[in-house]
Amino acid sequence: MKYPTHVIDDVCRQVDFVDLVRGFVDLKPVGSSWWGLCPFHAEKTPSFKVDSTKNLYHCFGCGAGGGPITFMMEMTGQSFLEALKDLAERANLPSRPRSTAKPIPGPKNPPSMRS
Ligand SMILES: [Zn+2]
Repeated sequence: MKYPTHVIDDVCRQVDFVDLVRGFVDLKPVGSSWWGLCPFHAEKTPSFKVDSTKNLYHCFGCGAGGGPITFMMEMTGQSFLEALKDLAERANLPSRPRSTAKPIPGPKNPPSMRS
């Protein structure tokens, strides 16, 4: 089964990827990117980068990378279609109540740049 590419593109573009990742990883804003400890390998210094403009993630430690759908598949073990559906709900495409979506915990500390 194949999904139209524009549907996938829409979902990947419109989902709040940083918000999504922050449900799993504590991210800190650095410039226009977000950094955190990679959820795919053990590390003590953040090498996991999320690009909020392109909705892509990349880990400089283990080489993991991809977009929102890949992230969900890797994190939750969902299939491609499950991840796509889940993300569509998070992005409110189309408007359906979030019945099965897991609540995303808020950040422990509000992001703030040093002044
Ligand atoms: Zn990694």
